[in-house]
Amino acid sequence: EVVDRDADSVIVRAGAGVEWDRLVEWCVDKGFGGIENLSYIPGDVGAAPVQNIGAYGVEFNDVFVKCDAVLIEDGREVCFGKEDCGFDYRNSIFKQELKNKAIITFVYIKLQLKPVFKLDYGNVKTALKGYGEASLSNIRKAIIEIRRTKLPDPAKFGNAGSFFKNPIVDIELLKNIQKEYDDVPFYESSDKAKVKIPAAWMIDKLGWKGRVSGKAAVHKDQALVLINLGGASGTEIYQLSQSIERDVKDKFDISLEREVSLI
Ligand SMILES: Cc1cc2nc3c(=O)[nH]c(=O)nc-3n(C[C@H](O)[C@H](O)[C@H](O)COP(=O)(O)OP(=O)(O)OC[C@H]3O[C@@H](n4cnc5c(N)ncnc54)[C@H](O)[C@@H]3O)c2cc1C
Repeated sequence: EVVDRDADSVIVRAGAGVEWDRLVEWCVDKGFGGIENLSYIPGDVGAAPVQNIGAYGVEFNDVFVKCDAVLIEDGREVCFGKEDCGFDYRNSIFKQELKNKAIITFVYIKLQLKPVFKLDYGNVKTALKGYGEASLSNIRKAIIEIRRTKLPDPAKFGNAGSFFKNPIVDIELLKNIQKEYDDVPFYESSDKAKVKIPAAWMIDKLGWKGRVSGKAAVHKDQALVLINLGGASGTEIYQLSQSIERDVKDKFDISLEREVSLI
């Protein structure tokens, strides 16, 4: 529901149990901009702050205002503002100090009535051409199309989305890699002395994309996603991830960090 509004923006309150993409759809339909690039990410609203979900140049913390939560230890109801949450790239206090200690019940996000679209990431602009002018609903359609084409459907092949984070490395290291690969893609990071290199590019360069290891595999269209071909154990998936990590370390001198949580 909309709990506050001014000439330029609205504050939307959403329950933790709402499916994330239903919230995105609702906001897009109402003309509220800010999370359209996060369309079609599986999961519920309450999990969005936990790993600060992000895609196509937008992160959840860009719109986050606050969240209500219950502390598991004593049942106390608390409210976390943005500065309390320690948001970072696929990280927050809920994945660290407060892991399994707080249950998020509601999130509050600030969305724009005259949104500025973010179209510069990946192939968003190209996909958008198929739908017409830049608008919230066309951007949502383009993002859904990209994701449907590139990512495996979890209903067919078990997967957790991106298995690794994109590493943020010193520019010097990037220059070293460029000596051998002048096509290495990279993105600026908030720290100007560092850049973000797509982990998928490295995994692909090392020939892992599409490779099968027993009942586990690296997805054929998206090297960041490890899939269960049917009946793979957690250990098999883990061992595959370890082999990839070792190869990336040997070749690029970069230690990949997992985006997924191990249980
Ligand atoms: C095909 C695919 C594509 C994906 N693409 C992306 C992507 O583009 N960007 C991205 O960021 N992620 C992506 N993911 C990862 C996933 O969608 C997100 O991490 C999502 O937020 C998980 O939601 P969930 O409800 O399934 O949470 P779960 O996996 O059930 O939980 C995740 C963590 O959050 C905690 N948690 C869940 N709900 C609450 C709550 N209410 N209060 C406190 N803690 C809670 C859990 O304890 C757990 O530690 C993708 C996953 C898949 C399978």
